Amino acid sequence: MGIEFTYSQPVAIYFGQGRFRMLSQLLQEMEIDRCVLVCDPYFAPRAQQIMKENKAVCAVFSEVEPNPQLKGIIQVTELARKHQAQGVIGVGGGSTLDTAKFAAAIALDGGDAIDYYEGRRSFPARRLAMIAVPTTAGTGSEVTQVSVVSHGTEKKTINNPAFMPKAAIVDPELSSSVPPKVTMNTGLDAMAHALEGYWSVNHQPICDVLAIEAVRTVLNNLERAWRDGNDMEARSNMAYAALLGGMAFAQPKTAASHACSYPLSEDYHLPHGEACAFTLDSIVMLNADERLDYLCKAVGLEDCAALARRIRELKELGGLRTRLSQLGDVDVGKLAHDCAVHPLMKNNPVRLDETALVKMFEALR
Ligand SMILES: [Zn+2]
Repeated sequence: MGIEFTYSQPVAIYFGQGRFRMLSQLLQEMEIDRCVLVCDPYFAPRAQQIMKENKAVCAVFSEVEPNPQLKGIIQVTELARKHQAQGVIGVGGGSTLDTAKFAAAIALDGGDAIDYYEGRRSFPARRLAMIAVPTTAGTGSEVTQVSVVSHGTEKKTINNPAFMPKAAIVDPELSSSVPPKVTMNTGLDAMAHALEGYWSVNHQPICDVLAIEAVRTVLNNLERAWRDGNDMEARSNMAYAALLGGMAFAQPKTAASHACSYPLSEDYHLPHGEACAFTLDSIVMLNADERLDYLCKAVGLEDCAALARRIRELKELGGLRTRLSQLGDVDVGKLAHDCAVHPLMKNNPVRLDETALVKMFEALR
């Protein structure tokens, strides 16, 4: 059978060192006169400066929590409505971008955020323009229609075209102050996105190409960026890898390693990247087949075992947790069950039921 696929990437991507300085020009081009800037707390002083210099920025919201809560989204939505904003800019890691995406999607509608979160109301066609400016190299949130949101202790991944940003400015300079551990966590998240997009049952040719290049770039640059955060070449390459990783899974979606990351984050409080990385090398081995072997060879590795080894090395180097004993009192049966029933598990090429997952986790004791 010949090649057949559907591919679309609707986000205008502006990539390069120093390109964040084009924000004012981009707002003008997009005819945005009033907008809300959502950012990580550490970015707040610079955001205030931006607001002073650019009158299109009417308000700043910088109280985004690490696992973004619905209440932050409600606050941004209220700000956007109050200022009759035409756009929302998100500057930060995944939590900030996901908050900005959600608020931009619902602000023009009169509805309550909780109704969208619970699925009682469908997302409106009319929404605010969203500009995504990632400051960590990992989530790929700038090119996906995914928003991961928590309400109380529940954490939900909502996948909806309404969340697709209109534009993304990817400026590696913004990631220069990211601490080494976060660099490693988010870098391995980028690797997980690329691998999962590649082995997802929904994989497709263009995403495969993006995935291979993303994995190669992470392998060649993550350790460098971790060792020296001011190595701008490594930072730039990692920002590029994260972008490609995002594009590699945006359509095929992620699979087993992300499915397992949710219970690991919810019950054992691992940050997203560390939670994905926790099982990634094990799942490389469980998913090892001819296709994955092709990727490994294409990125200069001998085989799937070499890829799994390298992922483990990077985790250990970065001080990430790699064994269940480091997570406290773990109920393996419950953990395996929660991972097995996660919807993303359906995208995995190899069926991993509770028994297979108990075996995988037992080997990680
Ligand atoms: Zn991820």
